[in-house]
Amino acid sequence: MENNIVWHDHKVVRSERAENKSQKPCLLWFTGLSGSGKSTIANALDVALHNRGYHTFLLDGDNVRHGLCKDLGFSDEDRVENIRRVGEVSKLFTDAGLIVMSAFISPFNSDRRMVRKLFPAGEFIEVYMDTPLATCEERDSKGLYQKARAGEITDFTGIDSPYEAPAKPEISLDTSCSSVEDCVESLINYLLERKLIAS
Ligand code: ADP
Repeated sequence: MENNIVWHDHKVVRSERAENKSQKPCLLWFTGLSGSGKSTIANALDVALHNRGYHTFLLDGDNVRHGLCKDLGFSDEDRVENIRRVGEVSKLFTDAGLIVMSAFISPFNSDRRMVRKLFPAGEFIEVYMDTPLATCEERDSKGLYQKARAGEITDFTGIDSPYEAPAKPEISLDTSCSSVEDCVESLINYLLERKLIAS
């Protein structure tokens, strides 16, 4: 098929957008089971960075499924497309100079690799929420584990759909034994050490 779509170079380039904000863009990609703390920690980090004056954006799995990805379900194929779209949107936000936090179960290594490849080295930070299934299930903050165990929902990650743990995440956090504050401190320290933020 003939492809008549041409890439237009922008006059204001990516680095200039970030420089205008006096910050370095990056993507913190939160992956883990439902209830592992992705949204809670991503939100808390968002607040901490925002309060330090950084320009940030938060993309959350449940929220994008209300709009951008509302046509997608939870089959393997739809999960791949969900992550592809979110990866591309995250990239656009970092092109705009923002520090982006994306919180998605993203159970498959191949999908997370696909997103990683969109970013220059060091700009994709995989944050593995390594909270045990038992803790996530006990919390059952959205009541979904109970429904999955009862067979009322299918393809639920950790119950009847697999979760592939990252082999080499940049950061691992276990919210069964670390507080929200401790998790945020670890993330801020990582960003400071890598000079992605200055204070
Ligand atoms: P996910 O986005 O991974 O589905 P959520 O952040 O929505 O997870 O839910 C995690 C739940 O666990 C929340 O109800 C939160 O209040 C609770 N929780 C208890 N302790 C912690 C902790 N140390 N860190 C993060 N969440 C915690």
